[in-house]
Amino acid sequence: MANYRLTGTLRGTVRAEAWIVDGVIAYRPPQGRVINIRGFIYPGLLDAHTHPGLNRDGNLLPHQEVRRRLEALRSWGVTAVRDSGGQQNPGDDRSDGLPRIIHCGQHISRPRRYTRHLAVEVEPEDLVAQALNEYEKSDGWIKIVGDWIDREAGDNLPVWPRQALVEAVAAVHERGGKVTVHSFCTETIDDLLEARVDGIEHGTGMSAEHLQEAAHRGILITPTVHQIRRFPEFAHAGARFPKYVQRMLGMDARRREHLELMIESGVAMLMGTDTAENVTEVAMPHELIDAVEDGFSPKLAMANASYDGRRRLGFPTWEEGMPADFVVYGNDPEVGIRQTLTPASVFIDGIRFPGKN
Ligand SMILES: [Zn+2]
Repeated sequence: MANYRLTGTLRGTVRAEAWIVDGVIAYRPPQGRVINIRGFIYPGLLDAHTHPGLNRDGNLLPHQEVRRRLEALRSWGVTAVRDSGGQQNPGDDRSDGLPRIIHCGQHISRPRRYTRHLAVEVEPEDLVAQALNEYEKSDGWIKIVGDWIDREAGDNLPVWPRQALVEAVAAVHERGGKVTVHSFCTETIDDLLEARVDGIEHGTGMSAEHLQEAAHRGILITPTVHQIRRFPEFAHAGARFPKYVQRMLGMDARRREHLELMIESGVAMLMGTDTAENVTEVAMPHELIDAVEDGFSPKLAMANASYDGRRRLGFPTWEEGMPADFVVYGNDPEVGIRQTLTPASVFIDGIRFPGKN
């Protein structure tokens, strides 16, 4: 395979140059021919919340569909994924040159407390057993739905009694696993902190105190800015539940202010798109553009999406001998975040692919 020399501006390292030799990162030039790659070079983007293995109708996806999603992610510069819930493991369809996967098993929720077909639905007394079941299928993280619309109450409310969460998280921790939880609403957060969860998805209901506590404990928050901009759409879909509508529109009105609180708290973040089949149209660049529009500095957004986020989930960045997974931009995305829409090239396992253009 071809060898490469990387120069220009390498982000997330103090080094001025690096090589890709036989597919891995090297700091000494190899023998023989080397192709020069110059640009703004980052460890490949991590989408910490996308669903390449999720189907909407209860039928498993054809392998070619999973592959299509992974290839689309790659074209946007994404080289690593935490799948945040799906009925099948996209890692089963991975080969060299496709994004690396942390599979989270299938979403766990209660009957009638999530989008139909998506979650394994259990009652609280079965949460521990199901959490362990999903953990066995996963690559170390599992995903629980923490709150969702309760049609009887007509509002977005916690799904689980606190004790059920406490026991489920403890059981997964005992096996060495981690738990991330979908949460929109404020009422759920104390339960999540009490249960010692490792991650919170969306986190739109977190107060300043919640965020400080999460920062203190190193809980990873995925703000999914692109997704939470859709709250007016969700409110519209739930128009027959006035309390729900009011809650979602209220959070939408406070979105920028809330994201500012999140940034100020210093909480460790991951960037995630909450995409699934739509990865050709929407991907990490859209999340980054929205995040910057809503108050993130481009540097913070890029660090979370690349080297900092990767380290938080245990992916390598610039370590010698590690698989060469990089995204290369012709112009600096920290000067113009829209540069992320057109990566010049993407490397996975040292294999070079053209970026989207
Ligand atoms: Zn999701």
